[in-house]
Amino acid sequence: MKRSTGQDRTKTLNWRPATRAIRGGTWRSEMGETSEALFLTSGYSYDDAATVAARFAGEEDGMTYSRLQNPTVAMLEERIALLEGAEACRTQATGMAAMTAALLCQLSAGDHMVTARAAFGSCRWLGDHLLPRFGVDVTVVDASDTAQWEAAIRPNTKVFFFETPANPTMDVADLAAIAEIAKAHGITTVVDNAFCSPALQRPMEFGIDVVAYSATKLMDGQGRVLAGAVCGSEAFINDVLLPFQRNTGPNLSPFNAWVVLKGLETLDLRAKKQSENALKVGQFLSGRVPKMLHPWLDSHPQQALAHKQMDACGPIFSFVLDGGRPQAHALLDGLELIDISNNIGDSRSLMCHPASTTHHNMGAEAREEMGIGEGMIRINVGLEDADDLIADLDQALDKAGL
Ligand SMILES: *Cc1c(COP(=O)(O)O)cnc(C)c1O
Repeated sequence: MKRSTGQDRTKTLNWRPATRAIRGGTWRSEMGETSEALFLTSGYSYDDAATVAARFAGEEDGMTYSRLQNPTVAMLEERIALLEGAEACRTQATGMAAMTAALLCQLSAGDHMVTARAAFGSCRWLGDHLLPRFGVDVTVVDASDTAQWEAAIRPNTKVFFFETPANPTMDVADLAAIAEIAKAHGITTVVDNAFCSPALQRPMEFGIDVVAYSATKLMDGQGRVLAGAVCGSEAFINDVLLPFQRNTGPNLSPFNAWVVLKGLETLDLRAKKQSENALKVGQFLSGRVPKMLHPWLDSHPQQALAHKQMDACGPIFSFVLDGGRPQAHALLDGLELIDISNNIGDSRSLMCHPASTTHHNMGAEAREEMGIGEGMIRINVGLEDADDLIADLDQALDKAGL
């Protein structure tokens, strides 16, 4: 294996994002394949015993076992790091494996974490249920109110963890302001950037320390595999995350890594086109539904902040109907083209009712606290023609009496 023509690491750092997405991190075997090779192997064999001894001693580079290194997975990790502008990246089997690893690798009993009220259901579960079992105290704040982050700090606060825009309320948190507060207190910031991907928002440019992904979403982008990733400094990834990851084994399979590598080649195109469609669909819906939660529309209270942090609105937004669950379900049932599905980031348009799906398990009280009502609908706008999506929504809204 060697890096493909012209790819020493310093040169790849001069490439622009579109070039990084296609060619970043590519290694080639002696076969000279153009597309990245898929190494479906758990182990490796060696020419002699001294070689394997040198590799285990860290005196020689090379693969030893796929929980520790795999060439296909390594290509994906290098490419994601390049797109993120991070020094290093490690991938995991799912987005939740990435979030769990990013937090557990650095938190210990006696530490304190501050996290956001509005978040993906399982991300809230980590703070509400898992971490307290291991003696980590957790304070929940309204992420969009920057003063609450500062007010929640204690002498033992180790981590700030949040997502922006948040799922599914579309609250936007001020990356630069929160990073600055954290830095002043020696706190590590961890941002879940699943809604944007590095094509639309790069939190490290605003001073965030660690960026974690569900690569299942926009990075794969075609609804095929589950995957996760954590990006950070070399010191964080190698000294803090890697000892945890190598010994607990939440690894991404080489096959899924290969699928995501292919997805990254079109990430920029998809993220921009889906954002364009999501703006058109959002503009149509804002004339038809009582409340929009769309970061690119004038009605969003943090529109200016969204414009500062994000390159485009992204494919996902939410809206709220007055008629509660019956009307929300009626709208979903009236769809003919858009699928009823709780996934996001897919090139297909998908719609769901968070209160009865993604945020069902947390219970009505927690949903109320997060601002997820019975009339809320979340949409992932895909790559179909926006006019077909609008026509489908138009007829489904008619059927639902809107
Ligand atoms: C989907 C999602 C996750 C979890 O990712 P999986 O790949 O499903 O494990 C975490 N955070 C956000 C914001 C998500 O949308």
